[in-house]
Amino acid sequence: MKNSDLLKIAKNFETPTYVYDASKIQSQYLRLTNSFKTVKNLRINYAVKALSNISVLKYIKKLGAGIDTVSIQEVILGLKSGFNPEKIIYTPNGVSIQEIEKVAEMGVNINIDNLSILEQFGSQNPDIPICIRINPHVMAGGNNKISVGHIDSKFGISIHQIPLLLRIIQNTNIKVNGIHMHTGSDILDIEVFIHAAEILFETASKFKDLEFIDFGSGFKVPYFPGDNETNIEELGKKLSKRFNEFCLEYGKDLTLAFEPGKFLVSEAGSFLCSVNSIKQTTSTVFAQVDSGFNHFVRPMMYGSNHDIINISNPNDKERFYSVVGYICETDTFANNKRISTIREGDVLCFKNAGAYCFTMASNYNSRYKPSEILFLNNKSIEIRKRETIEDILKNQIEINI
Ligand SMILES: *Cc1c(COP(=O)(O)O)cnc(C)c1O
Repeated sequence: MKNSDLLKIAKNFETPTYVYDASKIQSQYLRLTNSFKTVKNLRINYAVKALSNISVLKYIKKLGAGIDTVSIQEVILGLKSGFNPEKIIYTPNGVSIQEIEKVAEMGVNINIDNLSILEQFGSQNPDIPICIRINPHVMAGGNNKISVGHIDSKFGISIHQIPLLLRIIQNTNIKVNGIHMHTGSDILDIEVFIHAAEILFETASKFKDLEFIDFGSGFKVPYFPGDNETNIEELGKKLSKRFNEFCLEYGKDLTLAFEPGKFLVSEAGSFLCSVNSIKQTTSTVFAQVDSGFNHFVRPMMYGSNHDIINISNPNDKERFYSVVGYICETDTFANNKRISTIREGDVLCFKNAGAYCFTMASNYNSRYKPSEILFLNNKSIEIRKRETIEDILKNQIEINI
């Protein structure tokens, strides 16, 4: 997307607002499927929690993907967006057996990551095939908060518990149609990924009725010019070859599945906000924008470094700024960042704002959640209205005192 398109959106729809470039979602999808083109049955299940607007889901459905969901609400959003239940996988963690059974009744694929839940679900529903989430205990991922495969992680069934897992399956007579892992976000080392995949293959060979192997996700995308990323093409070459060999050993053409969230939508997103004020202190020049961690929490929560561009004054002299929000609490988006001279009223664009941005937004300080715009075929389409005071008050109950 060009700066001029983004500026036009800021003008027409006001700020703060999220913008998603559909063509970038498509090119990432094609990059992934092309990297695995030698695999006969490939399935991409988009991780809804990254960005769950139903219009985005509909677009992703049109590309040919399925979805990965982590709550019954995400399942409902998926069904509402037109996904067939068979194209939805549900990967809950710490969710009640009642919710899991409700989702199973909808015809959605269930992925179980807990032996106690497996035993209960299997005894009640031996006819519903399920997928098993394994924890291969491989340390991967960009930081502790997003790494989920290590020994102390709450996710998955440990590979060391395979004997007990097999016993439960035998006792309940449940059919296992898939084996799954998801070791964390921001994986850079392909060898680590391949190592975890080998553990998954070894586990998979113990199950006779498999239809798919799901390698989860965790692909790293670049956050600023010069930042590194997962080499998808190389991973595609290595893992496809190994997967095809495994299918020969297994004696069946299994489906290779992935569940990317960030990889598909992160770079497609831009977050636009306006500069309310410039404030110079003894040490710092602050640019204060009409937003905060209520709308965009990744820099504060994960320390993520998002590129910031002054799209209304892009080619001026660069100066150093601390970009902060309007929340009454520390809400620093970036410290000492080189940005083209910022004036009050300028529009700033935060890059990589597609994944885990809007979906993590809140109403802190009683501010409205931003609007969302989809840029599709050179048109800007509003896919979520900015909230109003009615939304803030909607579920509040006023008492008479
Ligand atoms: C969050 C999640 C994903 C997506 O991870 P990304 O890093 O956004 O690609 C995939 N699978 C499961 C089970 C998840 O919880």
